[in-house]
Amino acid sequence: MSQEATILLIEDEPEIRRFLRTTLPVHGFRLYEATTGRDGLAEAQARNPDLILLDLGLPDLEGSEVIRQVREWTTTPIIVLSARDQEQVKVAALDLGADDYVTKPFGVNELLARMRAALRHTSRPADGGDSVFTLGDLGDLKVDLGRRQVFVSGKEIHLTPIEYKLLTTLIRYAGKVLTHRQLLKEVWGPLHVDEGHYLRVYMRQLRNKLEKNPAHPRYLVTELGVGYRLRTE
Ligand code: CA
Repeated sequence: MSQEATILLIEDEPEIRRFLRTTLPVHGFRLYEATTGRDGLAEAQARNPDLILLDLGLPDLEGSEVIRQVREWTTTPIIVLSARDQEQVKVAALDLGADDYVTKPFGVNELLARMRAALRHTSRPADGGDSVFTLGDLGDLKVDLGRRQVFVSGKEIHLTPIEYKLLTTLIRYAGKVLTHRQLLKEVWGPLHVDEGHYLRVYMRQLRNKLEKNPAHPRYLVTELGVGYRLRTE
């Protein structure tokens, strides 16, 4: 059982929303929807999804404007859904920072392949190293970033999407201290940088699931008054 990735779909066409609403959850994705550019931008900030699917022809804003505004604060992959005759718009979207595109009408397998590739790319550790991360001498903690699977002492465990994102953010900066604001911004999004209680609650949950002795964590350590660090030594 792998961890669900969260997807934000910004699309005004009801048929495409219906199609993706029925297919994506079956393939292990959690879907959020918006039907306008403005709603999409608000949802992106509120949900901080793992990936955004963006229709370029929205009723209120140009898709390019949505990309520009999303890219002001996050590198979350964006896959553009475009019509066949929109070559120039598509190129402009990629120039602005979209990661990929699919042309309508698209099949679910094509879309899934693009989504997996985009997600795989962003879940790699910053140093470009192995996509399987392990800690501890007996493989106490093992995270397969490609498959989104987490193992503790060889046994697979289930994390919620937020717990998983918190863990992979710590892994991306393994060994480095992350401030509360940095973690809140990376995991919950820029609207939530002052909500330190989120972080305390989820860090406790994560320790309960990953640490042998959650009251005296070996890996998920508190840096008093500063933030947290994933200890790697
Ligand atoms: Ca449209």
